[in-house]
Amino acid sequence: MTEIRMEDILQEILKASSIAIAGHVRPDGDCVGSCLALYNYLTTICEGEDFRVIDLYLEDIPEKFKFLPGSDRSLKEPSNRSYDLLIVLDCASMDRIGVAPSVMEQSLQTLCIDHHVSNTHFARATLLDPGASSTCEILFEMMDYDRIDRNTAECLYLGIVHDTGVFRHSCTTQRTLEIAGALVEKGVPFSRIIDETFYQKTYLQNQILGRCLLESIMVLDGRVIVSSISRKIQEFYGACPADLDGVIDQLRVTKGVEAAILIREEESQTYKVSMRSNGMINVSKIAVYFGGGGHVQAAGCTMEGSLHDVINNLLLHMESQLQAAGQVS
Ligand code: 5GP
Ligand code: MN
Repeated sequence: MTEIRMEDILQEILKASSIAIAGHVRPDGDCVGSCLALYNYLTTICEGEDFRVIDLYLEDIPEKFKFLPGSDRSLKEPSNRSYDLLIVLDCASMDRIGVAPSVMEQSLQTLCIDHHVSNTHFARATLLDPGASSTCEILFEMMDYDRIDRNTAECLYLGIVHDTGVFRHSCTTQRTLEIAGALVEKGVPFSRIIDETFYQKTYLQNQILGRCLLESIMVLDGRVIVSSISRKIQEFYGACPADLDGVIDQLRVTKGVEAAILIREEESQTYKVSMRSNGMINVSKIAVYFGGGGHVQAAGCTMEGSLHDVINNLLLHMESQLQAAGQVS
């Protein structure tokens, strides 16, 4: 287990003549953006080197990200090929590697580039910057600006936009905005990317959002908002997990709340929990306690038991953090 310096990383990567790039399960904007950005960047700078193999492993890319250059090049099936180097992006732990767990075992060297504070250092080498808004931001820092073309720039921009919630979340720094500006300079169609991949919702997504908001409850003196969606309702609407995108963010901006919880029933007695915080509550700590992970203000986990128990268990942790901060009696 080693930490790698940013300045050395590209040189180290280019020593490998066969490279695989992989993301995490249920790839989100930063995952897809970072994997495609690195794929486009490396294939461009290695163009003409016919000895080198660069493969990309990603689970199904959500429809709205499929316009990104290179999205048709990803290998979706698990493989047990061996590479000189596997680079895992935006993935905090071994159990979240999507289609490449066997590639991980087979490859000679593994490198994880990530910004999740909960990263478990599962790879042989790790470049971790929990202060970065996104994995795309870290990639920008390690790339040579002059060699970033518009394709790579679009992917990096998309990842940054998604992990910062369009530059709203507190992970956004002055540097994040400088990087976004530098990417706009490369000709990124920023309005289109923001509208079509972030704000645009299908009719079904709007219906689900409405339902989750209607059924939400305020607890702990109005400091926490909780909503849940049963399997039955998901089946009724024909909704998949991606149809809940954005619901948790809308819950979080409810006036007065410190944290939002969205609980999606996956199977009987199994729930996928999403949490967001406005700063006072460290939701990563709670998610890690229940076997998940994420960031201080955005985290998740999977929990078993009855819905009632899941909510109670989460709220106990939220309550003790609020008490420590003097927020509830
Ligand atoms: P979301 O609520 O959008 O699914 O996830 C928020 C953040 O928490 C993401 O950065 C995601 O990587 C992380 N996260 C969500 N669920 C899990 C989980 O079950 N395990 C781990 N390790 N991280 C999770
Ligand atoms: Mn990310």
